[in-house]
Amino acid sequence: MKNYMSILKENGLKATFQRMHILEVIGMYGHKDVDEIYAEVIKTHPSISLATVYKNILIMTQNGVLIELPLIGRKAKYEIKKDSHVHLICKECGNIEDEDFNLVDMNSLKEVLSDKKFAYFNQELNIYGTCSHCSSIKVS
Ligand SMILES: [Zn+2]
Ligand SMILES: [Zn+2]
Repeated sequence: MKNYMSILKENGLKATFQRMHILEVIGMYGHKDVDEIYAEVIKTHPSISLATVYKNILIMTQNGVLIELPLIGRKAKYEIKKDSHVHLICKECGNIEDEDFNLVDMNSLKEVLSDKKFAYFNQELNIYGTCSHCSSIKVS
């Protein structure tokens, strides 16, 4: 189990029980949107409001604890920041799968960036498409 308390403190945030619990929920499922996180959080803490969950997710995203994954036509999902990886995002069901970043040719990407004098900071790669489950439904 990850130490969410130290993740929060490393990023300059107080380890409140709301934040700890939101991180536990996201950590358990990988990628979740605000409504899904809220639905899980209130199972153990019924007094927490949706606004509180939303506000804390926003603060943790701004402080680099969480990463926001924009989804076409859906609510953004959130995940706990970890090493760079590629997302395979299904535009039908919204499922997100993590893939190793090594499948990306970083050398040619870095060449392009240096040609453009674009200072490299961090990368996230989201690939949108149809997952095997959804494409099999479409065929039949
Ligand atoms: Zn799908
Ligand atoms: Zn991910």
